[in-house]
Amino acid sequence: MKIICIGRNYAEHAKEMKAEAPLEPVFFMKPETALLKEKEFYIPAFTKDLHHEVELILKICKNGKHIAESFAHAYYNEIGIGIDFTARDLQQQCKEKSLPWEKAKAFDNAAPIGQFMSKDQFPNLNAISFHLTINGTTRQSGNTKDLLFSFDKIISYVSQFVTLKTGDLIFTGTPQGVGPVHIGDTLEAYIENEKRFHLNIK
Ligand code: MG
Repeated sequence: MKIICIGRNYAEHAKEMKAEAPLEPVFFMKPETALLKEKEFYIPAFTKDLHHEVELILKICKNGKHIAESFAHAYYNEIGIGIDFTARDLQQQCKEKSLPWEKAKAFDNAAPIGQFMSKDQFPNLNAISFHLTINGTTRQSGNTKDLLFSFDKIISYVSQFVTLKTGDLIFTGTPQGVGPVHIGDTLEAYIENEKRFHLNIK
């Protein structure tokens, strides 16, 4: 399986990163070794500025290439929540040198995920609220009504370049409020006020 991540998919987050809102979806990938289903995360030694980016995640349920936007809904059946961990200091260095971001985004355990839910549980996929708390305080909250590119658009766009396969995950972008995590923090993420993710930072 592979993990595809959409960057700058909420305008307010693009703004806080001092980046322009993109005209088409921006994506990058994390390898399977980035996936973390444990409840503990150890901050790697190579970063001094590890950031949380809470994101809704789509689980692909059917292989597809060149998927039309109007059929994209049939290619994912579950929605979950997780963190696109980012070594912001390394990412900044990469950006300054116009180098790829992988070492800042694709490292081991950089994609912790929580519980998935059937997408049929959501009355409106274009109005799903989600948020992240750290030690009980809300630090990021978002709603899919603010997505620059919808779930269907993302699937259609990415599948022009990369074949999607059953079991692949798509991180759909983070809302504003990204920031550092520290040893001892507890991260919890909620979809529609239901807790679906828990992670202790070590
Ligand atoms: Mg992200």
